Amino acid sequence: MTVARILAVKGRVVTTVLPHRTVEETVAILAEKRIGAIVVTGSDGEVLGIISERDIVKAIARGGAGALQDAVSKHMTSKVITATEDTSVHGVMEEMTSGRFRHVPIVNAGRLSGLVSIGDVVKYRLEEIDNERQALRQYIASA
Ligand code: AMP
Repeated sequence: MTVARILAVKGRVVTTVLPHRTVEETVAILAEKRIGAIVVTGSDGEVLGIISERDIVKAIARGGAGALQDAVSKHMTSKVITATEDTSVHGVMEEMTSGRFRHVPIVNAGRLSGLVSIGDVVKYRLEEIDNERQALRQYIASA
């Protein structure tokens, strides 16, 4: 199954932030939206980076509260691993596991079209396992 299936349920709205915005502004967005990462985009919507709660914890651990006034671009990860809607859910899980991150922006024809988190993947897998269980039960009952 592909990532498109997850986005069809979750939606394709992605929270983004411009690179010159401050870490403090980003923290407020993370808290308000109850999310763990924000995709950093340029004025044309192109993906420039990603900043997650882990980057912010690291920035504050190193620079103290003053880091909150830094630009997002200073603490974001610039080399972003993305996927397309045609990527398999399994493929996204593998990327997250090998790269040790929990968010993958979905890009279609150069445009951001969604974001899949580890929570989305786990939810999808639990539903898949439940469907398999029900199918096996029906198979046994009808045999
Ligand atoms: P996370 O587990 O998503 O909180 O992110 C852990 C670290 O990986 C942080 O430094 C993020 O900036 C970085 N990161 C998160 N998602 C990605 C991604 N898709 N590609 C590359 N780095 C990422």
